[in-house]
Amino acid sequence: MLNLNDPSLFRQAVPVGNRWIEADAETGTPIYNPSNGDLIGYVPNLGAAETEEAIAVAEDARHAWAAQTAKHRSGVLRRWFELLMENQDDLGAILTAEQGKPLTEAKGEIAYGAGFLEWFAEEARRAYGQTIPAPMSDRRIVVIKQPVGVVAAITPWNFPNAMITRKAGPALAAGCAMVLKPAPQTPFSAIALAILAERAGLPAGLFSLVTGDAAEIGGVMTASPTVRKMTFTGSTGVGSLLYGQCAPTVKKLGLELGGNAPFIVFDDADLDVAAEGALWSKFRNNGQTCVCANRIYVQAGVYDAFAEKFAEKVATLKVGDGFADGTVIGPLIDDKAVAKVERHISDAVDKGASVVTGGKRHDLGGKFFEPTILRDATVSMAFAREETFGPVAPLFKFETEAEVIAAANDTEYGLAAYFYTKDMARSWRVSEALDYGMVGVNAGVISAVEAPFGGVKMSGLGREGAKQGLDDYMEEKYICMAEV
Ligand code: ADP
Repeated sequence: MLNLNDPSLFRQAVPVGNRWIEADAETGTPIYNPSNGDLIGYVPNLGAAETEEAIAVAEDARHAWAAQTAKHRSGVLRRWFELLMENQDDLGAILTAEQGKPLTEAKGEIAYGAGFLEWFAEEARRAYGQTIPAPMSDRRIVVIKQPVGVVAAITPWNFPNAMITRKAGPALAAGCAMVLKPAPQTPFSAIALAILAERAGLPAGLFSLVTGDAAEIGGVMTASPTVRKMTFTGSTGVGSLLYGQCAPTVKKLGLELGGNAPFIVFDDADLDVAAEGALWSKFRNNGQTCVCANRIYVQAGVYDAFAEKFAEKVATLKVGDGFADGTVIGPLIDDKAVAKVERHISDAVDKGASVVTGGKRHDLGGKFFEPTILRDATVSMAFAREETFGPVAPLFKFETEAEVIAAANDTEYGLAAYFYTKDMARSWRVSEALDYGMVGVNAGVISAVEAPFGGVKMSGLGREGAKQGLDDYMEEKYICMAEV
């Protein structure tokens, strides 16, 4: 069982509208630890009725919240941020138990997630409008920003805390109310966040959680005319389904979808820095992030040297239970994820790739997999098209800059890309040529609350974090004032 300093942060119940709904073992959904299969607890199995209730209460509650001063909303968000940091150890432990990532990494996510609440507490007070010189002397043009209204959110399991705060922070800062469906694998991190929101002074009804059947809940959220914005982080398949479902009510949409990040090492790169960057870009969260390096392109002149340095580093990664000392790589989230990793490796080996290190399930069994490097990757292999979402690093060889830019852009995705070079002119040239929403130059991990996160092409719509993140939860209203 979870050993928490504050056991009340673990609750088998969700806030829906003005009440908490308790789970029981008979009707609730069991949640298991992916590391050892232990039962963690139950969450309520809710559906259309509770989603409708949460939306109706949110619509009621949002007006009073929006009528508060921005400073007041900022204060509540600031307190929420502080409570996350004060409870970082417990929140990290809940996250590790349900998601599997190592405790140090989980605590890092809590700090990163809390950072969005801090950032949007600050941005709440800077939702500036505009005055514009009018074309007629008896008129004035004023633009104000107002909250979009009720926001529905659906989040994934890979960042059970930060993917929620990155949406709830700006929504609440703007003066919206949110109804959230957390990922089915990781509801307890969402519940702990809701408990702390209540303690921070967030009025009831502004942050509801609905756990249960995804399609049913998502169906009600998207069909509701009351919901004015849908924000989703997850797969491109589900994202585009929701996009379609939102069309009849013409909702504002924020979509953070899949990626297939290229990671390019040019001949003139600092190979030590590049190998270290590749290590964390690829193996952070066991390869289960949408910005993880998925295709590593290395220029021919440094291919062997890079492969050797990278393999040395990968060999040091300790696989194990997230609570065990020294663990850097936890289990994968479920058996389906393990099967996909195996499929990508066997497909590549069948087509001529060779295993440098790893390549198979880990001796620990269960959902543990060896961190893997493959050489001689080619465009015909599955990972050239599909996101692996696991600990597999395929090394592609390239000759010229033009060739690698074309290869990097040859995907339906456009989330994050990385490249390593010491040449300043190339840094600009390649940054501009990559069809991606985010580019790391000599940096393999680039997420920051201050920076706009998001993709182009089938990786999504809109930006999260940064000042753009708040704008996505507000509408601009143009007011024309004429003299009478
Ligand atoms: P993953 O395969 O990484 O779990 P998904 O896109 O399937 O990615 O899941 C992301 C989120 O979308 C989860 O909260 C999941 O429950 C939700 N989801 C999955 N299918 C649907 C659906 N048909 N409608 C609404 N939400 C869905």
